[in-house]
Amino acid sequence: MNEDQRFETQAIRQQIDGTHAQEHSTPLYLTSSFTYENSEEMRAAFAGEIDKNIYSRFSNPNTQEFVDKICAMEGAEAGYAFASGMAAVFSTFAALLAAGDNIISCRSIFGSTHTVFNKILPKWNITTTYVDLKDTDSWQEVVKENTKLLYVETPTNPGVDLVDLSWVSEFTKKNDLILVVDNCFATPYLQQPIKFGADLVIHSATKFIDGQGRVLGGVTVGRQDLIDEIYAFSRSTGPSMSPFNAWVLSKSLETLAVRMDRHCDNALKLAQFLESNDQIAWVKYPFLPSHPQHEIANRQMSAGGGVVSFGIKGGLERGKRFLDEIKMCSLTANLGDSRTIVTHPSSTTHAKLTEGERQKVDITPELIRVSVGLEHIDDIIVDIQQALNHSI
Ligand SMILES: *Cc1c(COP(=O)(O)O)cnc(C)c1O
Repeated sequence: MNEDQRFETQAIRQQIDGTHAQEHSTPLYLTSSFTYENSEEMRAAFAGEIDKNIYSRFSNPNTQEFVDKICAMEGAEAGYAFASGMAAVFSTFAALLAAGDNIISCRSIFGSTHTVFNKILPKWNITTTYVDLKDTDSWQEVVKENTKLLYVETPTNPGVDLVDLSWVSEFTKKNDLILVVDNCFATPYLQQPIKFGADLVIHSATKFIDGQGRVLGGVTVGRQDLIDEIYAFSRSTGPSMSPFNAWVLSKSLETLAVRMDRHCDNALKLAQFLESNDQIAWVKYPFLPSHPQHEIANRQMSAGGGVVSFGIKGGLERGKRFLDEIKMCSLTANLGDSRTIVTHPSSTTHAKLTEGERQKVDITPELIRVSVGLEHIDDIIVDIQQALNHSI
């Protein structure tokens, strides 16, 4: 602190340096650029000879803290943080693929990712071939000379189906493909795809990682050589996470484990309740023994996650009446929030798919997705029960 400076000047110039002020909680580094002692230090920083921040589009202490935590949790070598989950998804493809390349994926993926595959990437002649999640025997025949990358979500959105990570990583290694896993539904607390052989893991940090529906964010972590390419692409094109969001999300990570424990407890109890209710046609939750891939869930996840899907008897009209009768739970597009959220995918998140495409991934008109929150489970069940009773 410079005593000679005016109050106004001190308020600007008295900057906090986390390593000297010894804050208990990480300070927020809201700065677009960083300064240097002298021209030589600046030259060395720009040449990449010393590890110094240059500009927050490239790196920032807050985003670095967030990325370092995710890397540690996922067992990844390196990573890069993005403004949203979709920025992470798109930048990862844009960085690693070139015109003429081909992707293999399943149709049961997040709606906007589907749009990127079908509408955006084709502009640069990058094509996507869809395989049936449940028919892995058919996957080998779709691999072509130009196939570079395989992209999956597990558990899938909104069907809560699973991909066997050990099998799929063996498949991608055999065919020399980059395996990218969207681990948004499980979070690194419940599942670490890199330990099963994935090359890259993507998160929408907007969901369970933030956990309170406040900020958007995304992150890609994994193999150093691939992250180097993603970093080179991103530092020049600018999809980076804001330091403020990184600060919020880094704090959120401190409570991820305790929040996920409760999300999973509540979700399992809701799934059990739904399974015993005669108004429900079917229930899907990875840790219900009735889930067709329960055994895979046990192998690769430590709990079932916070999302339950079910089919309500009476089809589309009944489904709409059910949503109209919901009182406490929220009708919104998000998931992974402390508040329980009920959605009807076929009329909202997956409305852009054609009827035929929806059928292929079992997004039937009666499908309801519940992102189970952190309210008391009895209150969640009371709300769902009364909506079921009033919508008959
Ligand atoms: C929400 C979501 C995304 C996209 O993330 P945004 O932060 O909304 O851009 C990607 N994948 C899955 C599985 C998601 O749920």
